[in-house]
Amino acid sequence: MTHTAPESKPHTFPHADAAQCACCGLALSKGGYDVPFIGVVGPKCVLKFVAFAEVLKFIEGRAITTTASREFNFSASRVITGLRVLGFEVSTDGGTFHVARRTRRLNDVVKSWKKVRAEFERDLKAASGLEGQVAA
Ligand SMILES: [Zn+2]
Repeated sequence: MTHTAPESKPHTFPHADAAQCACCGLALSKGGYDVPFIGVVGPKCVLKFVAFAEVLKFIEGRAITTTASREFNFSASRVITGLRVLGFEVSTDGGTFHVARRTRRLNDVVKSWKKVRAEFERDLKAASGLEGQVAA
């Protein structure tokens, strides 16, 4: 049986030792996976952050361009604004986007992420689909 829910996507977070999951607080006897800006989370919780890693990857180092299509800019700015609202500072120094730091408490970010994850997944998919389109 194949299971294609987003939860089943493979992840590439490095294994790391921690006493408990940064997401749910569960004790981690075998350690967990290090999620950027979040911390070490357990094998179950890590699956909730696959899309989060994709958001970071999408934004980090992205050149600020004026030639992309309006549709792409719309979707991309939803992703970037969403991350700022979620609790991250996104800087634009030197003409590229850079996820600088977390600005809200970890617990608040984790709680919010669970609520907005589906929106991010949708916006990211839309933006990725329009990638490379140039303004008419
Ligand atoms: Zn957990």
